[in-house]
Amino acid sequence: MLGIAEGATQYALEYALNRTAFGKPLVEHQAIQFMLADASTQIEAGRGLMVRAALMYDSGKPNTELASMAKCFCSDASMKITTDMVQILGGYGYIKDYPLERMFRDAKLTQIFEGTNQIQRMIIGKELIRSGKAINNR
Ligand SMILES: Cc1cc2nc3c(=O)[nH]c(=O)nc-3n(C[C@H](O)[C@H](O)[C@H](O)COP(=O)(O)OP(=O)(O)OC[C@H]3O[C@@H](n4cnc5c(N)ncnc54)[C@H](O)[C@@H]3O)c2cc1C
Repeated sequence: MLGIAEGATQYALEYALNRTAFGKPLVEHQAIQFMLADASTQIEAGRGLMVRAALMYDSGKPNTELASMAKCFCSDASMKITTDMVQILGGYGYIKDYPLERMFRDAKLTQIFEGTNQIQRMIIGKELIRSGKAINNR
């Protein structure tokens, strides 16, 4: 999930560095920078959550809630990020000649397989109710 997001962001960044619009590289337009900044931030946040879920598992502690949070967050982030990176490529983001179109489609799948994100949210909700704590897994 994060791999798709990272690949899409890297591709769009390189594209934006080289593509010129309104007399300057695309990447120098603040609206483009904001999309790249949000993407990079979400990737780092997702990685942190994923690593925490994995560390919990490795230490033998229950990680049900964190694992569902990581799957849900990383796949939703991947969908948002690939959507924005398609936008940065404009028309080239939409057509099959460029890799963003496939990354966008693959990101959608990550919200569906390995337990849909609705089901992951149900698991998180049930864990909240069971424990009565807003923040678990300390
Ligand atoms: C490319 C691809 C590869 C796949 N690979 C595998 C694989 O390797 N192994 C494997 O076992 N499966 C695999 N799947 C299947 C995948 O896990 C299922 O598609 C997924 O679990 C959703 O099941 P479904 O398609 O039957 O949708 P449904 O169960 O019909 O659900 C449809 C929608 O309704 C929502 N929904 C269902 N019940 C509820 C509820 N109670 N509350 C709220 N929302 C609900 C779902 O979240 C979903 O959005 C793959 C699917 C695809 C597309």
